[in-house]
Amino acid sequence: MSRAPQKDSRLLLVEEEKILRRAVDLLGLGDDVYEALRLPERVIQVKIPVRMDDGSVKVFVGWRSQHNSALGPYKGGIRYHPGVTMEEVIALSMMMTWKNALAGLPYGGGKGGVRVDPHKLSPRELEQLSRGFIRGLYKYIGPDHDIPAPDVYTNPQIMAWMMDEYYRLTGIHHFGVITGKPKLLGGLETRIIATGFGVAVAAREVAKKMWGGIEGRTVAVQGYGNAGYYAAKFLHEMGAVIVAVSDSRGGIYSSKGLDPDEVKQVKNKTGSVIYYEKAERKITNEELLELDVDILVPAAIEDVITQENADKVKAKLIVEAANGPTTAEAEEILVKKGTVIVPDILANAGGVIMSHVEWMNNRIGGLITEEQAKDILEEKMSHNTRALWDYWHRELDTSKHPMRDAAYMMAVSKVVEAMKLRGLL
Ligand code: NAD
Repeated sequence: MSRAPQKDSRLLLVEEEKILRRAVDLLGLGDDVYEALRLPERVIQVKIPVRMDDGSVKVFVGWRSQHNSALGPYKGGIRYHPGVTMEEVIALSMMMTWKNALAGLPYGGGKGGVRVDPHKLSPRELEQLSRGFIRGLYKYIGPDHDIPAPDVYTNPQIMAWMMDEYYRLTGIHHFGVITGKPKLLGGLETRIIATGFGVAVAAREVAKKMWGGIEGRTVAVQGYGNAGYYAAKFLHEMGAVIVAVSDSRGGIYSSKGLDPDEVKQVKNKTGSVIYYEKAERKITNEELLELDVDILVPAAIEDVITQENADKVKAKLIVEAANGPTTAEAEEILVKKGTVIVPDILANAGGVIMSHVEWMNNRIGGLITEEQAKDILEEKMSHNTRALWDYWHRELDTSKHPMRDAAYMMAVSKVVEAMKLRGLL
């Protein structure tokens, strides 16, 4: 569902450790706390032999990293990608610990990955691989222990196979063992909109603080996939003006505003937003980032706002739908300019919040409606955004520290507090 991972996996782990170190230092906690938080609690490696369609046996390898469970069961997706490494999975599981803590969910952090190019497998081979991964993992997961979900190149069908394999091995219908399932098997359709809608709600709440509201504010969205399209759609519904959008082929601009649904229809038909004829002009992805807009939503890939272009970014508010779109060097430049950056760890948490609603729904027999699910998401995203804004202003000098520092401080202090209460620190 999401984009392919790009960053070198060792670098990713080093960066995650750096972020943790910074939060620990800002909170005035010691080296002992840093060490207690750094290492994952458990990493499971699974060897997955798959009988291929041509009769041969191919062996794949996958990992599940269970980073921290102080706040509850581990939670995080499983990705299928040829570049997956154990280090990457560990780094991402650490990120999930903070994301879940910041979102106020009763979850710890986990992440899984299988080193495979799923596009090269037949549906039967993909099913065997998914079932094989669960056979290696089932003793370590469960609705009260570790709850996987979809991530890069995994989807509801794969979640259904995994849930079924778990049932075959345990004999118990635990719908809550996995989230992101098809609706008929306990999933929620609202999951499709969750990340983008969450991004829009976070933008709206910060816009209220900065300008008294989001109505009439101009927005540029980079990336028009699941996160970018729904962010644009809901921002438009909230009264913002979507003046520019883009995808990997380029972008379009219209000072009067674009209709996100019309643009999406064109993208579905032609493969790109650039064929939308009602736009005033075509722009490049680089130009989009430097447009004179109020709000910029990077929703494509990482590291697009760098020290090379940060000075030229004119948006006063950046809401990170993508993971890691702003480099640390760029953020420093932007903070000096007074640009507000709503960090990915808060802004794109809509997906995992919806996973929590699905998990709750599975446990109470499916009483939650799609409308209620959306309401819960909106309530949580707006509350979390306001809470982070207040914490940032209360605890830090906002002219020196980005909102990201506050986000990690909030998340880390929650996990530390939970560990202390449990007697682990
Ligand atoms: P997607 O594959 O649905 O869409 C990605 C979009 O980005 C596509 O329109 C693609 O054309 C465009 N794109 C790719 N490379 C680009 C480039 N170089 N310049 C401009 N556009 C480019 O992916 P998604 O699920 O929407 O995820 C987008 C980002 O959001 C990723 O960073 C992902 O990790 C993050 N994210 C997504 C979710 C989710 O639930 N979808 C949750 C959390 C984080």
